[in-house]
Amino acid sequence: MTERSSDVPLLAFGAATNPGLVRDANEDAYVAEQLVYAVADGMGGHQAGEVASAIAAHTLHDRLVGGASSVDVAVAAVVEANAAIFQGAHSHAEQRGMGTTLTAIVVVSPPDVAPRLAVLNVGDSRVYVQRGGRLRRVSIDHSYVQELVSTGHITEAEARNHPRRNIVTRALGIEPNVKVDTWVVPLVRGDRYLLCSDGLVDEVDDDEIAQILSGHPQPQAAADALVEAANQHGGHDNTTVVVVDVLEGDDPPHDTADLQVDDDWDDDEDHERLIDAEAASMPTLAASAVPPHNPVIHGSVGHGPAIQNPVIHGPVSSGRANDIAPTMSARRRGLGMLLFGIVLAAIVTLTVVLVLVVKHNADNSPTTTSSTTSTSTTSTTSTTTPTSAPSTIVPSSSTGP
Ligand code: MG
Repeated sequence: MTERSSDVPLLAFGAATNPGLVRDANEDAYVAEQLVYAVADGMGGHQAGEVASAIAAHTLHDRLVGGASSVDVAVAAVVEANAAIFQGAHSHAEQRGMGTTLTAIVVVSPPDVAPRLAVLNVGDSRVYVQRGGRLRRVSIDHSYVQELVSTGHITEAEARNHPRRNIVTRALGIEPNVKVDTWVVPLVRGDRYLLCSDGLVDEVDDDEIAQILSGHPQPQAAADALVEAANQHGGHDNTTVVVVDVLEGDDPPHDTADLQVDDDWDDDEDHERLIDAEAASMPTLAASAVPPHNPVIHGSVGHGPAIQNPVIHGPVSSGRANDIAPTMSARRRGLGMLLFGIVLAAIVTLTVVLVLVVKHNADNSPTTTSSTTSTSTTSTTSTTTPTSAPSTIVPSSSTGP
């Protein structure tokens, strides 16, 4: 599919998504629209992951269709999506804890400056670029295994089979604010961008991805072939792929040249959350790939466009669950609420006991009246209830009239 308007670069794109061979629902969503392309991988039980990824896709579509005037505008759309998901998760009990990854490329066209591509990422969906047959990763995963790779503890190959590979360290909807990684890349004629959810890269290694991209000149055919390959390797997760070809732009540099990337990414190592994006789905029948006939937005929320691929809803227990691991802040909030409840119950109980004691004393003392001072009350109590300590009565004077 090719798109063209008067002052925008000529791009072609294709997209495909598939639930895979194990999951009974597809919680991925994507955007493949004029000058904005994105993949979101939702997480959260009871179909909440679908809601989160759809909110992200719709927000990016609504804010960035036709491109952005600056990188800040593109980032603002991601921040808005984060806020919408976070608010939804805290407004609807059934959506509590939902979140989504989001990776996107957006054509940025500042006034009087040649358009460039902004790459944005939160989570472990990825953006690659293929130039001259060489596939390079642009985004950096926010994941536990990526941190192990970055620190030299495991290799890239080991990361693909690591049992904790589903733990992400950043996602939309988990915190009220989100930090968005951004890169700015020049538009180079012949570059091919690949956006994908982890359902692809967990099944298909980078070498095979490069071969498939090189073997399919048309972006839609490449997208379909990548999804098919993921399923041939097991299809353990939803797989979503968007392929974007740059048909006009700068002359391609030498193959060995490094990417010209303005790296705005700043890893402050402030990863306090570990979010388990692992799904516990019941095996289900394999679903065939569903190429989007009109790929604009995949995924729906509210009254938005309907999901294009059939989703088989399984029993509640088979849905994607336990996605968000308990965090320290969540545990602190829970402990705080528990302590507050205990203290409140103790205060209520003590107050009731004191009132009953005072009433009992009043009923058994002909000299005690409602205007009794603390001194007379104390002496009355010591007469009528010898086993009671005076100190238990003293507070009642402060709560009495
Ligand atoms: Mg996934």
